[in-house]
Amino acid sequence: MLHFEDTLERELAGIEAQGLRRKLRQVDSPQAARIIWDGRELVNFASNDYLGLANHPSVKQAATEAVEKFGAGSGASRLICGSLAPHHQLEEALAAFKGTEAALSFASGYAAALGTISALLGRGDVLLVDRLVHACVIDAARLSGATLRVFRHNDLEDLDRALRSAAARRGVARGHRSTPRILVVTESVFSMDGDLAPLKGIVELKERYGAWLMLDEAHATGLFGERRSGLASESGVDGRIEIQMGTLGKALGASGGFICGSRRLIDLLINRARSFIFSTAPVPAASAAALAALALVQSDKGAERCRALWERVAQFAKLARREWPECLTAPRSAIIPVPVGDEREAVALADRLREHGLGIPAVRYPAVPRGKARLRMTLTAGHSAEDIARATALLEELGACRKS
Ligand SMILES: *Cc1c(COP(=O)(O)O)cnc(C)c1O
Repeated sequence: MLHFEDTLERELAGIEAQGLRRKLRQVDSPQAARIIWDGRELVNFASNDYLGLANHPSVKQAATEAVEKFGAGSGASRLICGSLAPHHQLEEALAAFKGTEAALSFASGYAAALGTISALLGRGDVLLVDRLVHACVIDAARLSGATLRVFRHNDLEDLDRALRSAAARRGVARGHRSTPRILVVTESVFSMDGDLAPLKGIVELKERYGAWLMLDEAHATGLFGERRSGLASESGVDGRIEIQMGTLGKALGASGGFICGSRRLIDLLINRARSFIFSTAPVPAASAAALAALALVQSDKGAERCRALWERVAQFAKLARREWPECLTAPRSAIIPVPVGDEREAVALADRLREHGLGIPAVRYPAVPRGKARLRMTLTAGHSAEDIARATALLEELGACRKS
């Protein structure tokens, strides 16, 4: 018989030996460009709170008012008696924001992906995903029982090949049960690399083969497009995407995930998405906060914050071009990976940076492939020009991103 504690201890030792062991560190301040982390102040280059809305007065006020009016908890799942007014208001606003017929919110982006993909696909269907999609999509594929096929990152030729092969299978299966479904899933801004998907090309390809597209805009919502609704809108393809996904916990400063699309899609998810059906509704404060953030993002104030963020990105790009032309590609988003490679080295660098008051996390397997550890910097509207200058100078001094 395996001894429980000994077994776990051996497994943890294995994780440690690969330089992959994590531990939690306590933050004693609100989410902001500066945080108190394990008791000391750090300039925070780790947060996805791109526009500084998590701690914005009007977002906090909306959350507080929702607590006063609707209480702290939601009492049940949405389908039982937990479908509170703030959920409905948020979903109307999300649909208007994305220009779709309807929207559905989930307790998290992870739950949104899991519930949606497994509601739409089953055994015999095909899920085609970019090699770098978020773990929630891979987990959803497993749960759904669909065949998972991976295409090379942002590679339209490889997607074409994968679609052709999936469509050929469909030809064979026709006449058996229903025609197999083909769903392409990608992100608009990739969470660990910060680069952008070639959305126009992807949309054209999925249309050519009669496949569907699910686009995860977790890191683009609030930052791209005229009303900052995402990269699909900026690329002019938002009306051609069947399933638009986003999160409420990044630029929107609250918590949760959402799907936007046709009324039928949302009705089907309400009936079939198990992570929606069998889970207590999000707390009213989270939905109300997201609703307030959504209004802010689309306002002049939102535009101003977004502009401030892009100024910081441009500043970093200029410095990076000068200091590390071979190492860093020009940033296309607020996510800037500084490649390191070795897991332990990345962690050691992050430790050194922290000693100097900068919080730039090392990301390692399984968030990124083995041997591709990196420092992942996220810039936010709350950073100052001095913060960026200090970070680039220190990265240079510590020899991060060595020219090879
Ligand atoms: C953060 C993230 C998710 C998950 O969203 P949560 O609300 O944090 O569960 C999904 N996809 C991508 C690309 C993400 O970055």
